[in-house]
Amino acid sequence: MILMNDFRREAAPVKEAMAEAMARVAASGWYILGPEVEGFESEWAAYVEAKHCIGVANGMDALEIGLRALGIGPGDEVVTTGMTAFATVLAVMRTGAEPVFADIDPETAILDPRSVERCLSTRTKAVLVVHIYGQAAPLDVFDELCRTRGIHLVEDCAQAHGAKFQGRPVGSWGSFAAWSFYPTKNLGCMGDGGAITTNSAALADSARMLRNYGQSKRYEHPVAGLNSRLDELQAAILRARLRHLPEWTEARRAIARTLQATISNPRVRVLRASSDRGAHVHHLFVLTCDERTAFKIHLEKCGVESLIHYPIPGHQQIPGAGFRSDPHGLPNTGIHAANCLSIPVHPHLHPQELSSITQAVNGF
Ligand SMILES: *Cc1c(COP(=O)(O)O)cnc(C)c1O
Repeated sequence: MILMNDFRREAAPVKEAMAEAMARVAASGWYILGPEVEGFESEWAAYVEAKHCIGVANGMDALEIGLRALGIGPGDEVVTTGMTAFATVLAVMRTGAEPVFADIDPETAILDPRSVERCLSTRTKAVLVVHIYGQAAPLDVFDELCRTRGIHLVEDCAQAHGAKFQGRPVGSWGSFAAWSFYPTKNLGCMGDGGAITTNSAALADSARMLRNYGQSKRYEHPVAGLNSRLDELQAAILRARLRHLPEWTEARRAIARTLQATISNPRVRVLRASSDRGAHVHHLFVLTCDERTAFKIHLEKCGVESLIHYPIPGHQQIPGAGFRSDPHGLPNTGIHAANCLSIPVHPHLHPQELSSITQAVNGF
C-alpha cells in the first residue's frame, strides 16, 4: 500500500539527529519550558519572519490561547470556514465566542472573502483564515477587509509550514497565527506540539501567561489560563527536524508538479493551486471526483491509500450546529465535502510509487 505518510522512511541523518536531541534532553534533567523550547521559539519565529513565537501543547490550544489573548470570548463572533480540521471551530467555541461559517472558493477550497463580508456583524471580532492544504489564503484581501472593519485577522497555519504569500511567509500577516506540529503536519514532532507566532509583544506576553495557568510570576495567576506547555523533548525534536523542512517542502513541490502534469482523467479534477503569488507547500494533494466512493475503492484496489479532508464540514458537526452562516448558504463547502479526496504527496514517496499513483488515478 502506498501510504499517505510513512515516517519509517525518513533518512538516517534525520533519525540520528532526533535521537541525539532526545539524549540531550534526557541528560539535561530539564523537561518542560526550558532552553530547547526557547531555542525552538526563536528559530521558528525567524523561519516565519515573526517577532515572537510561543510554544504550546498543540494547534488547537494555539488558536484558543491566541484568541483569548486578543480578548475574544462570550458574546463575540469569529468568521471562519467549515472546510478545516474541526479543531479550528472547536478552538473558537472553547473561548466562549461563536464561530460563523463563511463559504469557500470552489476552485481552491480557501475561505471566500465575499462570503466573509456577508457574515460580518457588529459582534464580529476576527476573521480566522485557514491556509488549507498548504496554500496561502489571499492575505492581501483579508488584511484589507479586516483593517477596514477594525477587526482581527487570525491565521490557522497548521497545514502551511513555510508557505508564502507575495513572497512573505504566512504566520506573520495576522494579529497572530496558530501552528500545529502534530506528526503528520509538514513539520511534525513525535507527539503533540503547537505554537503561536505574532508581531505583538503584548499578545506574546499574554499568550505566555495563558499557556501556563495564567501565571504572571510564580504562584500569581491574574487570569484563568490553561496548562498548554510545549515540552523540551518535542522542542528538541522540532529543532532537529526544522533543518530538513526546506528539503521536504521542495520534495513535496516536485511530487505535486509531477502529479499535476501526469494526472489526466475527465472524471477527476485536480484542485487549482491558490494564486501564482503564493508558494504552496502541498501539505495535501487534493482531487475532486463526483463518484468519490467508487474512486476511493478503485484507488485502494490499486494499492493507493487516500483520505478525505474533510467529509463533514464544521457546521454539520453536532457541536458546530446552530451557529450563524452565510445567508446565501454554503453550497461550495457542501459540494467540496462530498467530492474531495486526498492522495499521497509525502516527501518520501519513491518515483515508481508516483507513477503507480498516476496510473491508478488515470485508470479510474
Ligand atoms: C491539525 C490542524 C489543527 C489542530 O492541530 P492539533 O495540533 O491537532 O490540535 C487545526 N487546524 C488545522 C487546519 C489543522 O490541520
